[in-house]
Amino acid sequence: MRECQKVASVFGMETVTRDQAADRDQRIAAAVAGFTTTQVSKALKVIAENRIKTTEFDREYVVVGSQGDHYLCAEDACECPNGRRFGINARCYHMAAVRLYTTAMAA
Ligand SMILES: [Zn+2]
Repeated sequence: MRECQKVASVFGMETVTRDQAADRDQRIAAAVAGFTTTQVSKALKVIAENRIKTTEFDREYVVVGSQGDHYLCAEDACECPNGRRFGINARCYHMAAVRLYTTAMAA
């Protein structure tokens, strides 16, 4: 998955062996399973532009949208209009950003 390389470079997730690279790619792919390529691209842009902020809560983040809008967001919930309406099924790029972020931080 091409996105895996991008995530790895954004976070500086260095790998030494082929097995480590495969493991990393698998974790990244699992994190954004069900999200579209477009959403993953937008999520990567959020991360690259440092538009994801930690909060006082472990699993909640503030994601700053492309228009400067702020949304409180977790891996499976988001307060953006789609998130409010569809919950986890919204699969908005804000959630994708949180998932990529937490996956990279756990590495
Ligand atoms: Zn959202």
